[in-house]
Amino acid sequence: MGGKLIDLFDTCTADFDQTGRILVVDDTPTNLFVLSKLLSDEGYQVIQAKDGSEAIALAEQYQPTLILLDIMMPHMNGYEVCDQLHAGPLTADIPIIFLSSLDAPFDKVQAFRHGAADYVTKPFQPEEVLARVRHQTKLRLAQAQQKQLNEALESRVKERTQLLELAHNQLLEVALTDRLTRLPNRLSFVKKLSKLMAQTQLTAEHSFAVLFLDCDRFKRVNDSLGHRIGDQLLRGVARRLTQLEQPFTNVDIVARFGGDEFALLLSEVKCKSEVVATAESILVALSQPFLLAGQDIYINASIGMVWGDASYVAAEHLLRDADVAMYQAKDSAQGQYRWFESGMHSRAVELLQLETDMRLALERQEFRLYYQPIVDLESMKIASFEALVRWQHPTKGLIGPDEFIRFAEESGLILELGQQILWMACSHLAAWERSGRVDADFSISVNVAPEQLLQSDILRQVEHIIQSTGVSPHRLRFELTERSIISDRTIVNNVLRALKAQQIQISVDDFGTGYSALNYLHTLPVDCLKVDRSFVQPITHETDSLGIIPLIVSMAKTMNMVVVAEGIENITQLRQLQKLGCKQGQGFLFQKALPADQAIALLTRPMSDWKNWSSISA
Ligand code: C2E
Ligand code: MG
Ligand code: MG
Repeated sequence: MGGKLIDLFDTCTADFDQTGRILVVDDTPTNLFVLSKLLSDEGYQVIQAKDGSEAIALAEQYQPTLILLDIMMPHMNGYEVCDQLHAGPLTADIPIIFLSSLDAPFDKVQAFRHGAADYVTKPFQPEEVLARVRHQTKLRLAQAQQKQLNEALESRVKERTQLLELAHNQLLEVALTDRLTRLPNRLSFVKKLSKLMAQTQLTAEHSFAVLFLDCDRFKRVNDSLGHRIGDQLLRGVARRLTQLEQPFTNVDIVARFGGDEFALLLSEVKCKSEVVATAESILVALSQPFLLAGQDIYINASIGMVWGDASYVAAEHLLRDADVAMYQAKDSAQGQYRWFESGMHSRAVELLQLETDMRLALERQEFRLYYQPIVDLESMKIASFEALVRWQHPTKGLIGPDEFIRFAEESGLILELGQQILWMACSHLAAWERSGRVDADFSISVNVAPEQLLQSDILRQVEHIIQSTGVSPHRLRFELTERSIISDRTIVNNVLRALKAQQIQISVDDFGTGYSALNYLHTLPVDCLKVDRSFVQPITHETDSLGIIPLIVSMAKTMNMVVVAEGIENITQLRQLQKLGCKQGQGFLFQKALPADQAIALLTRPMSDWKNWSSISA
């Protein structure tokens, strides 16, 4: 009987929200029929149950809006049904109107205690039943709507919270990540380091270390090949740092601090040699060329290392010391690492002072050129001068280039200094030319730093200086180190060719000191090789002492280059070099560098006059 009504109800669930679905429970078929008719006539969907257990099953299945529940039923009375419905998770909230016969004992209080929403007494008046049912269904529907609303609200709040969390995390990620390399940034590193410092119980056997790394040639790559290649290079460096092959897997975090600076945090290190091994593996990893834009790019790195002992209270102090140690490493030689030592701070302060002083010195033009003769080893006559810079410091006196050239290169001051040097050399030479004090083939060698060569307007600068001073360009010889010709070959090659086209001669300085540019030297327009002092110094009477010099001399001959031996200090060295057929030489045996006026005076005096060595002249 109930089946028909249920079918009906199933097909019009859309109306449910407005009207409601009512479960009528009564063991008296007449009551069931009358109530059902009354309610369905009013538009309610009716489900019928004739006993308690059927009522519970149908209530669970259809979850009606309201239940009309007879109290007096066999097996299970209305109160028991009510209790079970309230205990069921699906049916607990369904309001129940009790149906009670007037002749049966009915306790309203007990009914409400069992959770009744209302009650109707039988025989019922249809209006009363409908009024109470309407009231309860409305209430129930309102509650359902409210619940839906709350749920919708809750889910929106949840959604918003999730969105906010997402945004927060993204912001945090942006704030803590380096955009270019996707590595953690400085802030992230400092956070991690601070946390580690706060947590770690440092012991002699259990500590951490920070490695601070700066690429030595990055700026040049960036300036000469452009930012895009520069960016690629930095990404390449980042990749190699994160994929280090090392015996210890203790690198906690690799971060980029900006520019070409990176930092590594090593926790759980037991001894300093582990840190050194990591530094060495970094240098090995970075020593391989990077293939970018179809060419091999070489860079070096300098690494400062700090051992995380208990004396450090702030991460920033540790980083400051790592930075200082890195600069020391940079200062000592290319491609090095250094432990921080407490005395280094003063050196850092000194460097800062040096930079200030140098800027001032450039403004006040305190740099001077001294000239050292380069002697033709056959005729023993002065063939040319090498211009060597000195700093005439107002209080410290004369300062040699070893104390400021490398720093000038690192700080970029070399560009301004290099221009001043070229101006001075060309002015002197032009004046000597005009006064007729130099031979037709006399020349001056000027040292040119790699940074200078890679300036985009270097050719224009040189041309301007040559024109302004009126010097003959064929009298100029640029001395470049091997280091500078090995980097950025294409650019260097182009610049050198353009300089050659202007008749300027090219010389490779300190030849043989480690960069072994031999394999492509023949492709460059080089006129002259200067054998480094370190090869000349060991020369004795023994043939073995000549080392690779014979090879360099014969190779230079086949390539039509002049060989100049640097640092000749004694007669034995001179004789051996002469025997080898080395064309030219330079050294304290002949003359140390002199101020311009004294140097030029040497040209007009017999050699025996300026150096007491007539006994050895050829
Ligand atoms: P360098 O270009 O190889 O210059 C030769 C250096 O060896 C000079 O030192 C010179 O005084 C020194 N020397 C010459 N003969 C002897 C010798 O017989 N024995 C010894 N022990 N030393 C000798 P200086 O003038 O101190 O210059 C050092 C370096 O500084 C130069 O090496 C060069 O790399 C750099 N430098 C000097 N002047 C300039 C400059 O104007 N521009 C640039 N970029 N670098 C410069
Ligand atoms: Mg030189
Ligand atoms: Mg040299």
